[in-house]
Amino acid sequence: MSGASEGTRTPDPPLTKRLLCHLSYAGNRRPLYQPPFGVGKNVAQNDNALMRVAMISYHTCPLATLGGKDTGGMNVYVRDLSRELGRQGIGVDVFTRSQDEHVPHVLHDLGFGNRVVHIPAGPEIPVAKDSLADYLPEFIGNIRAFADSKVMEYDLIHSHYWLSGLAALELRQAWDVPIVHMMHTLGLMKNRVARSDSERTTRQRERGERQLLIEADRIVASTQAELAQFQWLYKADTKNVVVIPPGVDTSHFYPIPEDEAKEFVGVPDDKRMILFVGRIEPLKGVDTLIEAAAMLRKKGVLVEGCECLAIIGGESGESPERISEEMARLKGIAGQLGTDDMVTFLGQRDQDTLQYYYSASDIVVVPSHYESFGLVALEAMACGRTVVASETGGLAFLIHDGENGFHVPAADPSALADKLEMILKDPELRARIGETARDYAQSHAWPLITKRIVSLYSEVLRAYHPSLA
Ligand code: UDP
Repeated sequence: MSGASEGTRTPDPPLTKRLLCHLSYAGNRRPLYQPPFGVGKNVAQNDNALMRVAMISYHTCPLATLGGKDTGGMNVYVRDLSRELGRQGIGVDVFTRSQDEHVPHVLHDLGFGNRVVHIPAGPEIPVAKDSLADYLPEFIGNIRAFADSKVMEYDLIHSHYWLSGLAALELRQAWDVPIVHMMHTLGLMKNRVARSDSERTTRQRERGERQLLIEADRIVASTQAELAQFQWLYKADTKNVVVIPPGVDTSHFYPIPEDEAKEFVGVPDDKRMILFVGRIEPLKGVDTLIEAAAMLRKKGVLVEGCECLAIIGGESGESPERISEEMARLKGIAGQLGTDDMVTFLGQRDQDTLQYYYSASDIVVVPSHYESFGLVALEAMACGRTVVASETGGLAFLIHDGENGFHVPAADPSALADKLEMILKDPELRARIGETARDYAQSHAWPLITKRIVSLYSEVLRAYHPSLA
């Protein structure tokens, strides 16, 4: 991971940085790899040319520190897909809004000659999601300027989240290339589970998503659930929608012997751990998990000193005035329910260490009210863990109840407590489910998923340039 975290920064970049930035954008660049590949502008003009994808991740950087308010599954998806595309010989530039003028505008952290390009658009600091649309025209203009200065032509745009999709629609006009788009989350689904106005999304987003469902050349849905949501919530014609799930890095997420994992994370060998990993947001349902743990404590299933509930994500150890509203609320609930000694808020953890936490745990719980896919569940499965997840969104498809994990209804602490009790009392069941889960996760390894994405690119390009097919 790079140091490109989205922290607090000073707003006025020094002039030297601007000059350096322009210098680094200038000049031509020869393709580094020349794989034989289908069709596309680059390929059409030069048989040996590299296929190039402009990946757009406007509001969040694929290299950002994970587990923050707006840094989670989508960042991981864009980062890991781009890396694997590079490995499979596809050129990728990921364009994202610059949020830190101290971070070089062009980074090569993805390997294989592929780049993350931090495009200045508005102040180079994090800005509220609501005002991000204001900087979209500048973002689009600066992507075009970057491509012109580098004499780059892209074959295809792959955009992520509705704002990036709107940028892609403009760039398609300028570049005459097709768009593959992914929503990641849907405004209307978020509204359905919102408990307060602050969690609701805007009409502008809904309009943007509707427009993309009509105008993008192809939409990738993560699961059948998302495709169904396009149909029943947006009344969309889904003939251009294809379902391809996200992948998991199985070279990183695999079972580590429990004693070694426990030693790494600092949990005594005889202590059992229930684990949550994710952004700390109301729709993640962490309150349901704490309530379930409190019920099990009352019943004597969870005993002081023998079990712990570890919560990874968000800030930890910060002074009360610096923690988020949701973190404060969750800590309050844990205190009121008398589970302070059992619940540990660990804060964000580098993804490089998560395989140890998963492997050290007895059960990984994903108690979300809405989850478009649920990468954490897939990562835990790849580590051979038993996952208990809400039967919602993508989780309803990823988990096959009683086979490779367990379902519980969302926001139902007593159903969750019953399921956890059953699993905690049956180590053989945990071992069997964990093994099936691990096997299942292999079918989502990034190389396999990326091959499906590459075939999709190829198909989209053939449809867009019929004369080249
Ligand atoms: N993650 C991480 N460190 C943290 C919390 C989360 O690396 O402290 C990663 C986690 O490994 C997963 C992603 O963030 O890859 C969360 O993705 P998921 O699809 O579960 O949730 P989303 O963020 O999309 O709601």
